[in-house]
Amino acid sequence: MTNDTNRGGLTAAPSARPLPDALPRDGYGPLSLYAPVRPAVDHDLSDNTNQWGAPPSVAAALGGVNPVVLTQYPAQPTTALLEAIARYNGVTDARAVMASCGSDDLLDCMMRGLARPGDRIALSWPSFSMVPYFARTNGLEPVLLPFTHDWDANADALLAANARITYLCAPNNPTGTPLTERTVQRVLDEANGVVVIDEAYAEFSSRTWAKEAETHGRLVVTRTMSKAFGLAGMRVGYAIGHPALLHEIEIARGPYKIGALSDLAATTALTHDAAWMRDRAADAIAARTWLTSALLNMGLAPLPSEANFVLVPVPDASAVAARMAEGGILVRAFTALPGVGDALRITVGPPGVMTRCIALLSESLAVHA
Ligand SMILES: *Cc1c(COP(=O)(O)O)cnc(C)c1O
Repeated sequence: MTNDTNRGGLTAAPSARPLPDALPRDGYGPLSLYAPVRPAVDHDLSDNTNQWGAPPSVAAALGGVNPVVLTQYPAQPTTALLEAIARYNGVTDARAVMASCGSDDLLDCMMRGLARPGDRIALSWPSFSMVPYFARTNGLEPVLLPFTHDWDANADALLAANARITYLCAPNNPTGTPLTERTVQRVLDEANGVVVIDEAYAEFSSRTWAKEAETHGRLVVTRTMSKAFGLAGMRVGYAIGHPALLHEIEIARGPYKIGALSDLAATTALTHDAAWMRDRAADAIAARTWLTSALLNMGLAPLPSEANFVLVPVPDASAVAARMAEGGILVRAFTALPGVGDALRITVGPPGVMTRCIALLSESLAVHA
């Protein structure tokens, strides 16, 4: 028995932009969400799961976890997690939220669910490398456009691409730079297709579009538990948007993408550790300020970051990064980034790690001078 969320039956707020046409996607029409009804029973013999229990070594390694969490399929949808996400983001209706195994997966699924092979996805470049990757694996054409000289998105160019999906990353990875409110608003007002704002680093930034996403109609905001919340290993990301859009993404995704332990970890963190996270995000912002001035003091020109990393142009970045790795610190090297050239992307960390990183960077640059 399934419980379809009444595709298209949910109407947008009067001010919202209408859904783009051609939704649902051709061929998805007959599909409905997999949502088995699971009444509380003594023995669930409906899913072919192991009725003798979980492997003892796993149960032991996971200490206090109820073995049923291990042996049974998780609930679909994961209501407690969706409600925790909605609360954390100030979203009033949990139907405007969906979660999956990382926001990567949501980007992948939205390219299938909201676009068709041959459609375009437009984005400013350089940005998150998985976007053109997933575009290609889903048969979409990525249209990579230059940023403005001060690292804002070029709204004219993005709108002129007339793409099915316009991807904005705010703050942007790998540059760390924010987008101006004016540019985002203009793209939201004028883009013909769906706009996605990737907010993987929103907790380190001053602006989020999560609230607008609930009512806009054509905006999907993606966020993650992987960065500020410190749960990258658990693989949980989420999207906020109009329920009718999320429904299409959910159809493309299919059920059971979040493991029960990941669900538990994300729900617990959102419910009990938002204050811990905010303190750590404040630590990261302080570290970012420190790292940025240390790099400036070295005569380098780091980009102004609103994320938990700093991109700094250096010549011969791969060789410098390799040398730093020998000294015990791994940073990400980029070669010939458009508008930047060679650069290192350095994640911020506690003061001791940052001072060691700067010392190692100075040494490595001296060797390569
Ligand atoms: C890290 C990152 C993600 C990945 O998030 P997951 O939830 O771990 O899949 C998404 N977008 C950007 C821009 C990122 O930097």
